[in-house]
Amino acid sequence: MPELPEVETVKRTLNELITGKRIRSVTVKLPRIIQRPAEPEQFADALAGHTIQSVERRGKFLRILLDGLVLVSHLRMEGRYGVYAADEPAELHTHVIFHFDDDTELRYKDVRQFGTMHLFMPGEELELPPLNKLGIEPLEPEFTLEALRGKLAHRTSKIKPLLLNQEYIVGLGNIYVDEALFQAGIHPERTADSLAKAEWERLHESIRATLERAVAAGGSSVKSYVNGQGEMGMFQHQLLVYGRKDEPCPSCGRPIHKSVVGGRGTHTCPHCQPLKAARAANKSKRAT
Ligand SMILES: [Zn+2]
Repeated sequence: MPELPEVETVKRTLNELITGKRIRSVTVKLPRIIQRPAEPEQFADALAGHTIQSVERRGKFLRILLDGLVLVSHLRMEGRYGVYAADEPAELHTHVIFHFDDDTELRYKDVRQFGTMHLFMPGEELELPPLNKLGIEPLEPEFTLEALRGKLAHRTSKIKPLLLNQEYIVGLGNIYVDEALFQAGIHPERTADSLAKAEWERLHESIRATLERAVAAGGSSVKSYVNGQGEMGMFQHQLLVYGRKDEPCPSCGRPIHKSVVGGRGTHTCPHCQPLKAARAANKSKRAT
């Protein structure tokens, strides 16, 4: 599933490709992608004649701003956008097509069919599901150490599932949570309330640093993810633990361990991320 860096990359690409284009009509081939309004015909009729002004991001959602409407789109597992000439044959699994005045098309393709689109009046989208309960944006100034601790430090559950929960912090998924926890030297199964102040500082720093580096690299291409132009992100080559089971830890050389935490495959270095007692973690001198 694309996480913040991948959605940010899609956002930037779409901004270059579709801003200023006017929608002539919309074809919905798979009604279930359209979550709001209830009828796909209403969705198509409402969008006809509107011009795309910009593409924004909230968490892992795209917010496509038009004159007088906002389209909220989630790619879920494998959703992809691409811009094509209208006379180019549509690929298999193309479910929604936005036909533009200039004879190009924005096509939404989704092999797994889990993606969603919601249409709103401007402003309304932030008050209603799916955007209304989203937490802090980790690359915005609102993501301070105090905000992070305020949301999580008193909680008794494991830190990894808390970081994956979009109601606290948005945009983190399995890849970047594993990377950030490794960089901070924190085991994913530590409970949030067991973390020392220095560990919160390292975690705060590592979340931001990991996401910033991934955005700069255009996101990660893990399995099938590509950006809106069909380009592969390059950050997977910089991943330190994710997908590196049994490879040497970049910090201590011991093998990366793979386990399951909260139902998710989880990569750790048991030496650099001790599970036992905050005491041990506090004394460790890891610095990355
Ligand atoms: Zn290690």
